[in-house]
Amino acid sequence: MAKYKVSLVKYEKPEESIRKVVKLIKGLDDVPKDSKVFIKPNVVYWTKDCDFPKWGMITTSRVVNDVVELLNEKGFDDITIAEGIISQDPDDKETADDAFKNLGYYKLRDEYGIKVFDAFQRPYEKVQLTEEVSARMNSDMVNSDFLVNLPVLKTHAQCKVSLGIKNLKGLISIPSRKKFHSSDPKFDLHYNVAQLANKIPPCLTILDGIYTIERGPAMDGKARRSDILVASRDILSVDIVGSKLLGIDPAEVPYIVQAAKDRERTPNLSDIEVIGEKIEDLASHHEWDYIYKKDDTLPLPYERLGISGIKYRKYDESMCTFCSFYNGFLLTAIMTAWRTRDGEPFDNIEVLTGKEMEPSKGMNKTILFGQCQYAKNRDHHNINELIAIKGCPPNLDDIQEGLKKAGIRVPSYFFKNIDKAPLLFMQKYQGKPEFEEKFYQIS
Ligand code: SF4
Repeated sequence: MAKYKVSLVKYEKPEESIRKVVKLIKGLDDVPKDSKVFIKPNVVYWTKDCDFPKWGMITTSRVVNDVVELLNEKGFDDITIAEGIISQDPDDKETADDAFKNLGYYKLRDEYGIKVFDAFQRPYEKVQLTEEVSARMNSDMVNSDFLVNLPVLKTHAQCKVSLGIKNLKGLISIPSRKKFHSSDPKFDLHYNVAQLANKIPPCLTILDGIYTIERGPAMDGKARRSDILVASRDILSVDIVGSKLLGIDPAEVPYIVQAAKDRERTPNLSDIEVIGEKIEDLASHHEWDYIYKKDDTLPLPYERLGISGIKYRKYDESMCTFCSFYNGFLLTAIMTAWRTRDGEPFDNIEVLTGKEMEPSKGMNKTILFGQCQYAKNRDHHNINELIAIKGCPPNLDDIQEGLKKAGIRVPSYFFKNIDKAPLLFMQKYQGKPEFEEKFYQIS
């Protein structure tokens, strides 16, 4: 039986390296020139308020530019780029506009006549992915003839890796995204993610590993320069190879295992031919998990700092992207408050997130974070004093109020400067010339 082909190259030069990785697998050779081509980059986060590290988090504009140039050269003239970027306000159109302007997508639009869309401003349609699982997916992608999928080669705190299949989650509606983080043990996040590629048009996936990231998918992870490009016309095969390159066994990645099972394949290289570089020459281990203390009641660095009087249970897969957005923020607020307490323990508080956690016995105060937690546990017999931070997801005012009620006194400067918080993550890249902003610009 013919093997699935995956090409693997070192990124060396603009234009040339993308051409090479696509050519090795004849990635565009059989695609009719009059096809409607849809390009899906990965812009998992953006802010217009300050600079922030994009390395390993966002598809480089270098790769997006070189793909558009290649498509144009080959005679494709109906090309659309779209992405649904998460921001605090669901009606916010400015963040995507700012992202597309700064990442150079509008330059590509003006030069090559392509369309650039904020996926949240475009229609969605229901797609039945399996008998039991459906999602509202971006209509432009569903009705295109050919998908060029451009994820980053990165790790993910819930899915272990975020590669070709997972990148398609950015094309489903907000309610579908929330639903995907289900507490149903059969149709959980991993199962649902595994179904995302079931009804897509023919597809070329190119993993952008110019920068990769440990403990992704966002900027609180640690990026590294890896200079890797991987391509395949088979989305599962590219994810298996991508996982290996991150030093993570694909047989240990639940969504890859499920996607392989659904296709009657195995989550390994047995039916894959890698063309170009060898995986073992480019692979390096990337940590994906955030380490908590043994009973998962506090992040390990918090325990080491001696933070006490509070249980902040480790997130599970049922906490969706929108609450995740605030999870790191909440933890940082607690750390900031702790620094003002001179070692005095918090008042025996527990913080619960997602759709599955249940309150522990014997706590003085229980913070239920998010509407899902409130709906599940508001009448729970283990709760002494309930502090509800409602909302789906909660807003900053409610978070501030809830922390205050729990006696977690966060200095006012923390909330005043919250828009500029992403700037802090730039510090770890200072003085490291391999982290170049130019990869996210198009000149
Ligand atoms: S409350 Fe949070 S976890 Fe629940 S659906 Fe809303 S945003 Fe997601």
